[in-house]
Amino acid sequence: MSFLRRKKSPETAAPPPPTPMQEEVTAQEYLLRLSFVARSSDGLRLPADPSVAAAIPAIVEPLSSTTVETVEPLPLEYSDASPAIERFNEVQQWVLARRDVSPIGRHGLYVLEMTDALDMTVDTFACGLLHGDVDTSGYPEYNAIVGGLATHWDELSGELIVRAVVGWGGKGLRGDTERIGQKILSSLYQQVLASGYSLGAAEQARVPAIGGRSGLTCAHCGFEAGSASAFYCPKCGMRMSRGS
Ligand SMILES: [Zn+2]
Repeated sequence: MSFLRRKKSPETAAPPPPTPMQEEVTAQEYLLRLSFVARSSDGLRLPADPSVAAAIPAIVEPLSSTTVETVEPLPLEYSDASPAIERFNEVQQWVLARRDVSPIGRHGLYVLEMTDALDMTVDTFACGLLHGDVDTSGYPEYNAIVGGLATHWDELSGELIVRAVVGWGGKGLRGDTERIGQKILSSLYQQVLASGYSLGAAEQARVPAIGGRSGLTCAHCGFEAGSASAFYCPKCGMRMSRGS
């Protein structure tokens, strides 16, 4: 208290002596290393038929140790949703859009959306726990592998494009997860081939640039196509309506 009083009094207004330069301060380090890995196969073309899309979860089922969950693409009002925590408005949309998804599905979305292996503006994701365990709250461990099949409709042919996707990671990485992940990815791809639906390899596995203003909007789900040449909606598979 005495030094506070002294500071206020005008007689002692002289500047304090310069503080000696300290080269090194003692510091504790706090470090968090997060690591997420995702893999996506090339796309396979499946017939333009909603009943084929409905059969996708059953293709993942034999490889999943949990019930396969189908996560729909984002509804129009949540089209900016992102799981990136620093993007506050986007993460708020994401929480609202994904509040009913299971912990395994949510972890899967987190890993695969953060790595851009999924584009949930158009992808439908049939997801399960493919390897490893969950913690006591039901969330997958860092070395657990989640994933399944991601599908969207081809803009020009209307065919269903299917990709196998897997992901893992968090506060750690294990050396053998990479090898197991690659093996599971191949098994998923083989399951699609074995289903008998496949018409062959897709030329382009990824959806053409989303977000461009083409002015072409799906009358069924409101999705705006990135290219004016789209005939079918990549999100819902219905025929795009054309202004002229
Ligand atoms: Zn649509």
